[in-house]
Amino acid sequence: MCGIVGYIGNRTAYQIIIKGLQRLEYRGYDSAGIALYDDEVRLYKCKGKVRDLERLTTGHPIGGTVGIGHTRWATHGVPNDINAHPHRSKNGKFVIVHNGIIENFAHLKNELTNRGYTFESETDTEVLANLIESIYLENKVSVEVAVRIALSKVIGAYGLVVFSADEPDMVIGARKGSPLVVGIGEGEYFLASDVTPIVEYTDKIVYLKDEEIAVIRRDNFKLTNIRNDSMTPDITSVDVKIDNIDKGGYDHFMQKEIHEQPMSITDTFRGRVMPDKNTIHLGGISDVLPKLVTAKRIIIVACGTSYHAGLVGEYLIEEFARIPVEVEYASEFRYRNPIISSDDVIIAISQSGETADTLAAIRMAKEQGALILGICNVAGSSISRETNAGVYTHAGPEIGVASTKAFTSQVMVLTMMAFLLGRKRNIILPEQYRALIQELVHVPGYIEQILSHEEEIRNIAAKYKDATNAIYLGRGYLYPVALEGALKLKEISYIHAEGYPAAEMKHGPIALIDQNMPVFVLATRDKYYEKVVNNIQEVKARSGKVIAIVTEGDTTIRRMADDVIEVPTTPEALMPLLTVIPLQIISYHVALMRGCNVDQPRNLAKSVTVE
Ligand code: GLU
Repeated sequence: MCGIVGYIGNRTAYQIIIKGLQRLEYRGYDSAGIALYDDEVRLYKCKGKVRDLERLTTGHPIGGTVGIGHTRWATHGVPNDINAHPHRSKNGKFVIVHNGIIENFAHLKNELTNRGYTFESETDTEVLANLIESIYLENKVSVEVAVRIALSKVIGAYGLVVFSADEPDMVIGARKGSPLVVGIGEGEYFLASDVTPIVEYTDKIVYLKDEEIAVIRRDNFKLTNIRNDSMTPDITSVDVKIDNIDKGGYDHFMQKEIHEQPMSITDTFRGRVMPDKNTIHLGGISDVLPKLVTAKRIIIVACGTSYHAGLVGEYLIEEFARIPVEVEYASEFRYRNPIISSDDVIIAISQSGETADTLAAIRMAKEQGALILGICNVAGSSISRETNAGVYTHAGPEIGVASTKAFTSQVMVLTMMAFLLGRKRNIILPEQYRALIQELVHVPGYIEQILSHEEEIRNIAAKYKDATNAIYLGRGYLYPVALEGALKLKEISYIHAEGYPAAEMKHGPIALIDQNMPVFVLATRDKYYEKVVNNIQEVKARSGKVIAIVTEGDTTIRRMADDVIEVPTTPEALMPLLTVIPLQIISYHVALMRGCNVDQPRNLAKSVTVE
């Protein structure tokens, strides 16, 4: 959460930072701010978006080749102008932007208050600015040393960038728990929460590790850790195309990402699924495959949409590999003292690879000797580095806060894993393996077909845009899809929605059904089909409105439902990848018609790096 950019070089910092903040805005958009140094510190910040910040700076001096910027996702203090970052220390010379939570901020604030410091904002971050200043002034040390000492007193998580008017030829970045990367240019250096603000200028990136401190100057950069040990930077070359982080002709990132899915899931299985050889090869886990094949139990930990992908994984792995699977919310798992043994395999799923609860969950499981695997989208992210092995989804940057293509790519990885494990355990026989692989590679084409009906699906969305509640029903593989459909609707259109296993409806939710209740039913031809048809009848008998997602050519449900959306025929194990698409499209259009900000829904942010 929250986006950070820092720059030092020979260009005007303002443009680089504003553009960088726009690219990072998906990480937080409660407020935005920038501090520039041009013989003096100039600070501009306000509640709202980066465009509000641009408005605020119009007509004011924006020179200087050093600067830092921030988009906030508030944890301490309401989103307002004063709580916006950057925060300045008491003498105005230390300026800081921060992502994370300083857990002992109250204690530090008390100590500083006793020493005469006062605070403008309610944030934990301002405490850190003053802590650095007080150490600098009282101990008469360099800015770098003051930052290092201050960080040694901090409990909590941070990705931060700080500079001081006393040493304006240097910017310092540090991380613990929240991501931060360094970009190495020619005579210029960058710091940012992720690579998106940097890739336009350089492809040379260093991902900071926990407790590392980077000092960037115009002509060099130094990496140490909090104990001042010198660290060797691991410089990686990233290949992110600018087109991938722009809207590419679409109105919104979410729409673009929905439409990218035929390509993004192809990227997920490219080079891994070989239909001509009837093989699946997952290089990232090949070394640990023997342990995975003989695992007594697999525990999937994840949050949000990734949790729903995990649930699909449970159905897949249990059916095809016959290994018991549990799926857990990382935030619950990490605190409930779960029983984990060295025969267990933990699979952490996170788009960003930075999800704080998921990261903490795997650290805890690692201590107990389990093999830890990751399914992440962002290469080099914390989870991908802290797991023993893993499979990248390769879905490309996902900017829309409501996850779409990350979900289908995660499900694709789990599908490949389940099929591979099933074959290795001889539960899937060669002929069935061949058939599954052949079907799997057709999925992108099937998604393409569904996307070509966007207009029709939009017209259906228009009928239900004024609903105040909605129910999503599914069974088997499609139960997690019902959960995901409901989540998509509520997070971007603010309509209350619930996903339920279809058969559970009569244990409660059926009481909610009346003529105003849209009920989205996932009713493709699978082993539950007849049962789900009965559930549809039960909804219709109570005057509910049924929008059914059905297999192409289904005439039975067409006669009873108010609206139907067809998807191509495929084995039921692959149906989540198809049936989720119309639900994403409906959510997108409903939100749009209700005037909601689709890419930046209220109160949310991408990459949840606070617990
Ligand atoms: N805890 C800080 C605040 O509330 C930083 C939040 C963020 O990561 O944006 O201002």
